[in-house]
Amino acid sequence: MAVPARKTSKAKKAKRRTHYKLSINGMSECPNCGEMRKNHHVCSNCGHYNGKDVSTKA
Ligand SMILES: [Zn+2]
Repeated sequence: MAVPARKTSKAKKAKRRTHYKLSINGMSECPNCGEMRKNHHVCSNCGHYNGKDVSTKA
């Protein structure tokens, strides 16, 4: 089995991980209105989830 020739240095690891936390943890942009919303939650601004308006559902 192939194995990396060199150990990944702390600096190399840290530089790779600078992109990991660009967005707020557990948050993403609502595809409908562009507001920030929690992942797997109905958008608090427009009430959309998975492309549908679920705010008026009884
Ligand atoms: Zn929205």
